[in-house]
Amino acid sequence: MAFSWQSLLGNDIAIDLGTANTLVYVRGRGIVINEPSIVAVRKSDQEIVAYGHEAKEMQGRTPGEITTIRPLKDGVIADFELAEAMIRHFIKRVSGNHLRRPRIAVCIPSGITEVEKRAVRDSCEHAGAREVYLIDEPMAAAIGVGLPIEEPVGNMVIDIGGGTTEIAVISLSGIVNDISIRIGGDEMNEAIIQHFKRNYNLLIGENTAEHIKCTLGSAAPYTEKASLQVRGRDLVAGIPKTVEITSAEVQEALAESVNAIVDATKLCLERTPPELSSDILDRGIVLSGGGALLKGLDERLRRETSLPIIVAEDPLTCVVRGTGRVLEDLNRYQKVLSKVRRY
Ligand code: ADP
Ligand code: MG
Repeated sequence: MAFSWQSLLGNDIAIDLGTANTLVYVRGRGIVINEPSIVAVRKSDQEIVAYGHEAKEMQGRTPGEITTIRPLKDGVIADFELAEAMIRHFIKRVSGNHLRRPRIAVCIPSGITEVEKRAVRDSCEHAGAREVYLIDEPMAAAIGVGLPIEEPVGNMVIDIGGGTTEIAVISLSGIVNDISIRIGGDEMNEAIIQHFKRNYNLLIGENTAEHIKCTLGSAAPYTEKASLQVRGRDLVAGIPKTVEITSAEVQEALAESVNAIVDATKLCLERTPPELSSDILDRGIVLSGGGALLKGLDERLRRETSLPIIVAEDPLTCVVRGTGRVLEDLNRYQKVLSKVRRY
């Protein structure tokens, strides 16, 4: 590899600290980490034995002494220590031994508290950051999508992540109004798990539910028919069992979560000042986050709002790309940085 002073000095880092996935972008190198926000912990001594993909594979399959934990469940930091360990692990993996410590921009779920923001900043500092910048998720998504957020026009984004759905209207580099609901991909998985319990007495794991959602799941009015063989454990007999499930059933199981997203979108529109509404009428709403990939969701939102609905290109990486862009031009994006008070 060619020698470069830049690599010796160390590169700045952008992180999308998502409730489902953590992505890390290194300036000059692009996205270098894209892994589930999961750690596996040994119960006896609380030692972390795996991170990311490796930990996710263990999910639901761990022997008694190991458990998998998602430190950011539900859009908040559920476990500070593990969240910090995970952040440090991912930063260490990309930073290496450089002469200069990196600047780090982190995108955080916008529902997190002041205390949680500080925890994220401190974790990055402990991991060697020279400076830390925080950005709210919908803002980072909007920048990643390439919306003209600095202009005096209404830009609307819906970011559907694992723990939350964040809906925001942005103009002149600020969030004009936003709604964050604790409904996202996890809630959809849970709805699928419940559906099997109630209708088939079948217990299925989280990863199986997610697989069903991604392959078969849809929001009405999507009508393509398909089915899938699903394995789990019979709750009565206690033995493994296979059940065939159809797309129509999954659609029904997901209806409540989808309706909640539709309702929150309408509420956000109702609260939007008329001048900005008229911009949104022309420019539409952009969907980002993994939940944007749910089949038929764009169609459903289009029907309910009569607005143009655009699914972002590569919705799972919008946020980290947006955060990376901010990092590359901090002067330009001063206004979008989320302030955290020092003690
Ligand atoms: P976060 O920002 O909270 O980490 P992401 O934006 O990474 O979340 O999105 C992760 C969520 O998207 C998960 O709940 C995942 O199941 C969901 N997801 C990914 N692909 C699809 C798909 N094809 N259909 C529906 N949901 C999906
Ligand atoms: Mg996200």
